Amino acid sequence: MFNIAIDGPAGAGKSSIAKAVSKELGIIYVDTGALYRAVGLNALRNKIDTKDVNLVTKSLEGISVDLRFVDGEQRVFLGEEDVSVDIRLPEASMAASDVSAIPSVRQFLFDLQRKIANENNCLMDGRDIGTVVLPNAELKVFLTASPNARAKRRYDELIAKGNNVNFDDVLEDLNKRDYQDTHREIAPLKPAEDSVIIDTTDMSFDEVKNKLISLAHARMN
Ligand code: C5P
Repeated sequence: MFNIAIDGPAGAGKSSIAKAVSKELGIIYVDTGALYRAVGLNALRNKIDTKDVNLVTKSLEGISVDLRFVDGEQRVFLGEEDVSVDIRLPEASMAASDVSAIPSVRQFLFDLQRKIANENNCLMDGRDIGTVVLPNAELKVFLTASPNARAKRRYDELIAKGNNVNFDDVLEDLNKRDYQDTHREIAPLKPAEDSVIIDTTDMSFDEVKNKLISLAHARMN
């Protein structure tokens, strides 16, 4: 199978770039953040403290998290419920970051990610794809950008979706989440040694997309 791993901090443009690149290459796009968001959402709904290791671990017992692909689009299921929209609520972001630092949660979601990559040509994005989930991926990319550029993108995205947010809150949330993701003990956010690091601060969407497509083509041959 041909696997591409894209990692990087929040708002670096991973998902929009990944969608466009995977479409062009004719492979599926797997957004692994959605899995952590589903576990975080489940904790929020059950009024569980998302940092409480024991309670969050216990919450995994009764649930299943799954990805299904409908017309090439990923949908996330918590049990039989499609939670693809609810996991995008701003409060689900921090909840996802909290639960993702818990080893039992990472273990719970690991096999599913591996299985999808073993069975499909895919482009998978997240925080630890190149370092932990797919260490043998044919191409590993680490996408990053300045905090301000990332917050601006995330802000524009949320406003376009009709969320009433303010820029400083988005920037603060992003910085807090990145700090937490980078400094956790297990599978911290960092570039794999053999990844191509791309700073997208001053690059257009098409420039980043074309760069990734040419990198992928070079590895396919
Ligand atoms: O990518 P997204 O912003 O949706 O991810 C939500 C959170 O899930 C991240 O802040 C991170 O804490 C966690 N995550 C992770 N490992 C991944 C993907 C996401 O820890 N592979």
